[in-house]
Amino acid sequence: MLTDPPVAPRAEPLAVASRHTPLPALLGRDLEVPLADGTTRLYVNLDYAASTPPMERVADAVNAILPWYSSVHRGAGFASQVSTRAYEAARATVARFVGARPSDEVIFVRNTTEAINLLVHCLPLRPDHVVLSTAVEHHANMLPWRRLARVVYLDPPPDPEALLDSVRRALTDRLRPVGIVAVTGASNVTGEVFPVAEIARLAHEHGAMIAVDAAQLAPHRAIDMVQMGIDMLAFSGHKMYAPFGAGALVGPSAILGNAEPMLAGGGAVTYVTLDDVQWAQPPDRLEAGSPNVIGAVALAAACEALDQVGMQHVAAHEKRLLAYLDAHFEDLPQLRRLRLWEGKDVDRLGVATFTYEGMHHALLASALSAEHAIGVRHGCFCAHPYITHLLGVSISEAHDIRERLRRGEHRDIPGAVRASFGLGTTVEHVDRLVIGLQTLLEKGPKLVYVEDRATGDYEPVDDRRTFPTFPFLPSLAASGHALGCGQF
Ligand code: PMP
Repeated sequence: MLTDPPVAPRAEPLAVASRHTPLPALLGRDLEVPLADGTTRLYVNLDYAASTPPMERVADAVNAILPWYSSVHRGAGFASQVSTRAYEAARATVARFVGARPSDEVIFVRNTTEAINLLVHCLPLRPDHVVLSTAVEHHANMLPWRRLARVVYLDPPPDPEALLDSVRRALTDRLRPVGIVAVTGASNVTGEVFPVAEIARLAHEHGAMIAVDAAQLAPHRAIDMVQMGIDMLAFSGHKMYAPFGAGALVGPSAILGNAEPMLAGGGAVTYVTLDDVQWAQPPDRLEAGSPNVIGAVALAAACEALDQVGMQHVAAHEKRLLAYLDAHFEDLPQLRRLRLWEGKDVDRLGVATFTYEGMHHALLASALSAEHAIGVRHGCFCAHPYITHLLGVSISEAHDIRERLRRGEHRDIPGAVRASFGLGTTVEHVDRLVIGLQTLLEKGPKLVYVEDRATGDYEPVDDRRTFPTFPFLPSLAASGHALGCGQF
């Protein structure tokens, strides 16, 4: 097993554990993973912005409800009644967690992507309707809107005040009256928390509504839809310690209840004839098909646990770790940190995104995994316009990249490495990252890597890692590895 030199302390010792309710424990915290040299090491998961491990309490909740699992809204049996009530109780918990109004609906969906697509489908949008958004959005909060409306994108703003100024200016543009402002609650690429309440106030002053992509906000900051003036909200359970396939769309019943359902089928209707259908009221209207009661209960259990700890303590834990990481990153001047907003006062999630001129992001991420057992994400983070801006990719370079990707060539695409934190992150994890990066920057990778032409990923030539076997699955080694959206 590798042993690393200790990281010299740069900041005050951290009282990372909350003095209040202890932070909920997560599964996978003792995971040992193989290194390419055949040894094993405790896994350091620094990829919370992509997906979080489940909370133990979520797994317990799932185990507790599983024996009761039965059809929801459809069965006369007692287990069906329990499942139905559990599903509706989960809805009430999620509504409370985000401070929804009594007039709001909570619609269970798979994830944020589905929530925003459903919302866009439900709104009475036309191609001449103006949606105001920003160029820093995740593709999930970008592509659905422009299918049905005219989207005005604000340039990546240099600071929060500039963002509010440009929102104000756009809202007073009489030639393009804005109906909806669609913004992220926090950037998945660089972690800045957006001034959502101020944007909501501006939107309402000008007669517009605000839809917030809370995929990154919900797991890390308190949300109160009433206090913050959020009209519509979307988030994912798998980013908030409940990876059981459920997310939520929350929004006014008056909007969600008037739309044709996106999915037509059982459960969404009150009466069907051979040539007509009477749709049910929401939420049923928008939840056709058998619902994911386990996912909904898991999401509710996560909301309940986060509520008990207090989101202010969750945020404090992650901010302390980020300050610690920031201090140590000063010893790594070769890294170029990517940030939208600079300064100590910027409210930022536990996200550190960076590039290193001496090594491609895919190689750096692969070596962190193969040689240091550290899991990070690399690539473009499903936010191509924003990463293009951050990296300063020129129009001609962008054209070249686009053409290469069209031909299926994924080699040497620009991007960055992102380390992201959550409830299970510790000082030791940050130390491991800093040591791993120091070693790679000073000495280069120990192993020889080759780039996979098809995916653009790097693999060690002599890779002794073997995958775990699961009796219920065919061999993972034979399953190959598909191209994700991490690449450009
Ligand atoms: N918005 C943001 C800000 C995100 O970070 C993500 C996930 N990376 C999404 C939307 C999409 O979430 P999901 O993949 O769960 O649909």
